[in-house]
Amino acid sequence: MSIQPYPLHFKPEFKERVWGGRALEKFGFDVPAGAIGEGWMIADHPNGVSHVTNGALAGKGLDEIRELVGASWFGTKGGGSSNGRFPLLIKLLDCNDDLSIQVHPNDEYEGLPKGELGKTEMWYVLDAKPDAKIIYGLKPGVDRTEMARAIEEGRIMDSLQEVSVKAGDTFYIPAGTVHALCAGVVVAEIQQNSDTTYRLYDYNRPGLDGKPRELHIEDSLNVTAYEDSGAARMDTAGAKPGKWLTLANSPYFKTDKGIVNGQWTLSTSTDSFVIVIVCEGSGSISWASGLVDAKAGDCFLLPANLGTYTLDGSMTVLRSLVP
Ligand code: ZN
Repeated sequence: MSIQPYPLHFKPEFKERVWGGRALEKFGFDVPAGAIGEGWMIADHPNGVSHVTNGALAGKGLDEIRELVGASWFGTKGGGSSNGRFPLLIKLLDCNDDLSIQVHPNDEYEGLPKGELGKTEMWYVLDAKPDAKIIYGLKPGVDRTEMARAIEEGRIMDSLQEVSVKAGDTFYIPAGTVHALCAGVVVAEIQQNSDTTYRLYDYNRPGLDGKPRELHIEDSLNVTAYEDSGAARMDTAGAKPGKWLTLANSPYFKTDKGIVNGQWTLSTSTDSFVIVIVCEGSGSISWASGLVDAKAGDCFLLPANLGTYTLDGSMTVLRSLVP
């Protein structure tokens, strides 16, 4: 199929969550009623597919695009996900209340549902209340026995590390890291294309249907990395215009932060697509045969075979690709 490559912009797939809110409205999205926790911005998963809004492929889902042009548009590395789907899942999260204490498995975990990948993820904090905190990893010395006992005795929070967060912070969360986003933060999330979460604790609160959400204690205990999960956090305030600051370099994605101040001409490589998430500001992305406007909250998928492109305007962006 001979469609000229161009940056794809998607209509998000919104998800109601017990911990969600209305903060995603501030990006100008048409957010459905209810407590909306997640916008699946670029998604090709059985639980959600995002659809293109612009250009020749408008109306098509990322699953159809994979079938039509994935071989040339996703790149030699970007097309190689073991479940045959697009390798990454990009979300915006509005944490109006605390998320469950959770952990994700890696690709090797034998308890994974068939066709599902493990989940290494990262967050970039777009907005945070002044006193916002998150749960990030175990306290030193907590092993499986201690964590199991703490769960049993209803005091798991004693085992967990709490850290304060502000806009611009970034957190790398390899599979096996116990974590929870907490009330008052809005984040951009870049992750493996997976929807597998094991819940250790949900504050004994009812879910959207009035019943407590399921916990997965045994799976959680099995997949937790008790020593050195590889988690890393970073204050990214030092990012300079026209220079990429690397936030995460995992086997699944490499993510950089960039400050656009005027024109910044770049190029894709045939190895991988590039995902551009606009965190702040506005501007445009132009390429050989067109231009698309860009503003905070927008996420674009630039094909590996796009070639030269120019970011222009006044924007803070994240750039992700498959290394
Ligand atoms: Zn998670």
